Amino acid sequence: MYGYSGNILHIDLKERSHWVENKPEEWYKTYIGGVSMATRLCWENIEVGCDPYSPGNPVCFANGIFTGTPVPVGGKYGLASKSPMTGFIGDSLSGSWFSIAMKRAQYDGIVIHDASENWIFLFIDDERVEFLPADKLLGLGTYETEEAIRDYFGDDQVRSATIGPAGEHMVRFGNVTNDGRQAGRTGHGAVWGSKKLKAVSIRGTHGVTVADPDTLLKMSFDITEASQGKDTEKYRIYGTSTNVMNMNKLGLLPTRNYTEGVFEFAELVSGEYLDEHHKVKVIACAQCPIACEQMSMVKQGPFAGAMTGIEYECLQAVSSNCGIGDMTAAIRLIDIADRSGMDAMSMGVTISYAMECYERGVLKKEDFISERTPEGIELNFGNGPGAVNLALMIENREGIGAILSEGTRRAAEYFDKERNAETYKWAMNIKGLELPGYDARALKTFAVGLAVGTRGGCHNRSAAYDPDIKSETNRFTVDETRGKVAASSEEYAAVYDTLPMCKFIRRCFTGKADRAGAWPAIANLINATTGWHFEYDDVDLIGVRAHTIKKAFNIREGWKASDDDLPWRWKHEPMTIGPSAGHVVTDEELAYLKKIYYEAKGWTEEGLIPKQLLIDLGMEDVAEEIGV
Ligand code: SF4
Repeated sequence: MYGYSGNILHIDLKERSHWVENKPEEWYKTYIGGVSMATRLCWENIEVGCDPYSPGNPVCFANGIFTGTPVPVGGKYGLASKSPMTGFIGDSLSGSWFSIAMKRAQYDGIVIHDASENWIFLFIDDERVEFLPADKLLGLGTYETEEAIRDYFGDDQVRSATIGPAGEHMVRFGNVTNDGRQAGRTGHGAVWGSKKLKAVSIRGTHGVTVADPDTLLKMSFDITEASQGKDTEKYRIYGTSTNVMNMNKLGLLPTRNYTEGVFEFAELVSGEYLDEHHKVKVIACAQCPIACEQMSMVKQGPFAGAMTGIEYECLQAVSSNCGIGDMTAAIRLIDIADRSGMDAMSMGVTISYAMECYERGVLKKEDFISERTPEGIELNFGNGPGAVNLALMIENREGIGAILSEGTRRAAEYFDKERNAETYKWAMNIKGLELPGYDARALKTFAVGLAVGTRGGCHNRSAAYDPDIKSETNRFTVDETRGKVAASSEEYAAVYDTLPMCKFIRRCFTGKADRAGAWPAIANLINATTGWHFEYDDVDLIGVRAHTIKKAFNIREGWKASDDDLPWRWKHEPMTIGPSAGHVVTDEELAYLKKIYYEAKGWTEEGLIPKQLLIDLGMEDVAEEIGV
C-alpha cells in the first residue's frame, strides 16, 4: 500500500504488552484517516456503554493520509475516545511533528487499551514500545513535559503528546497537547488522566512512500504558492482573532455569558489590538506554509510574561464572554489553559457561567475562598484577575474549582440541587460541551447544525454558520432548505477533518472553497499518494462516512433525539441590543429544523440510521448493530 503502512499499533497499559494489527486496503478506503478512522478504531475497541473514565474506553489515534508528505497542511492526526464531557464520541484533531513521527514509525493508528496502575509515559521507538515511569514528569505543564522527555532521550526527533496538571487532576475538559498544538474540546486529557498516562512519545525513522511522487510534489508546490495569496491573508496576518470585530458588528459576539452579542470593549480584545500591542511572532504547524498562530505576549503589568498562541475561539471565550476588556488578562487566561492542558473555550464559558451565578447571587464571594484567594473573589463580569485566580483553582481542583472543573452542565446540576437554583438556564453547553463564539439565536442554520452535532456545542464540525454569516441564507428565519444546508456543511467539514487537512487551505485549490473548487484537486492528491482512483463523488463520500460512523457510535452509546437540543437561554431569552437583538430559536422552530435535517440525512423521524444506508456506505457490521 502506498501512503499507509497498513499497521495499527495496539498497546495494553495494564498488561504492558503491544501488538500490531494489519488492516485491509478497503478499510482504509472507507475510513481514510483523522477523525473518521479514529472513531472507527473507537467503535472496534471500546467496551460499549462504558464510563469514559473506565479502562474500557480506549485512546485512539489515527494519522492523516498526507502526513509526512509535501502536501501543505496535511500533517495532522485524529484523536478519539468516548468523551467525559458528553458521553458520546470525543473526536479531536491536532497536528505537526507528532503526527509525522507516528507516520515515520510506520503506524497509521494507535489504540491504547485499559489503564496503568502507576503514572507512566509511553515511548514508541519504531517497532519497540517502552512503558516508562512518569513520576518525574508529574506536575509539569504540557510544554515542559515535552521538553523534559526530549532532554531525557537527548534527541529532538522524539515527539510527544502530553497532558498537563489539568489532565492529571482529571479536569473534565482537560486536553492533549503536542508541539504547542492542542487536541481540544472533548476531554481527552481527563481520559488520559484516568489511565495514568502522562505522555505518548514517538521516534520514527522510516520514510513515507507515495505512489506518484512527481505529481504530488508538483501539486503541493502549486498549492503552497496559492497559499501565500490573498485567500489566506486573514489567517497569515492577523489570525482568526479578527473575528472579534466582525462578530461584534453582526451582534453575534458572545458577551457576558451569551446575554448579549455586542461588547462595548471589543476593540480592546480584537485581533487588530493584539497585532499592535502583543504579537511577538507568527508560528506554523509542521507541513504548513500558511502560519496562522499569532504568538502573543504580555510585556508589563500583573500578567507580564504570559505568552501563548491566540486565536478567535479561545479569545472570545475568556474576554467578551466574561465581560473582560483587558487583553493582558485574556492572554494570561489562555496561557494558563494551554500550559495546564485545559480546553480554553470550555474553561472560559465555565468561568462566565460562574460569573453569572455570582452576579445573580447564587454564588457568593466566600464560595471562592481557597489558599490562593483567602478573601474569596468578587467574581463580577469583567474581573480579569478574579478570572485568572478561578482558572488556577479549576486547574488544581481547589475549593469550588473542583465543581467547576466538571464543566457547566455538571456544575449546574450540582448548584441547582444544592442551592435550589435554576442555573441550568445560563449553563451554555450542548450535550455537555460548552458553546463556540457565534450566537446561534440569530444564525438559524447554525442553530440546527449545533443542536445535532455529534460532539456537542462545536463550530468546527458543523460550519453551518458560514452560509448564515455570508447571507447565503436569511439568518433570522427558518425555511425548508436548512436541513439540507446543515447536513451538507457538516459533511463538507468532515472531509477536511478526515484527511485531515487544515480548513484554512480550502480556497487555495482553485480560489473557491466549495466542493466543486476543492474536491477534484483533493481526489488527485489522494490518487498521487495512494495509487487509488478517487473521483469527486468518492471525496464527497469521505465526509458522509465520517459523519455516519460518529453518529453510529453515539446511537450505540444511547443517543436519543432529545439529546439534539439547544441551551435554555437560546430558546427563551433574546439579546436586547445590536443587529441580532430580539431573536430566539423557539422549541417549534428547533423541532422543525431537526425534522428536516433528519430527512436530509435520509434517517428516520427519530434520527436513527436505516440499515440499507449503512450497507450502501460499506458499513455492513455497523448496520447489523445499530441500523433500523
Ligand atoms: S493554518 Fe494554522 S492551524 Fe492550519 S495548519 Fe497552518 S499553522 Fe496549523
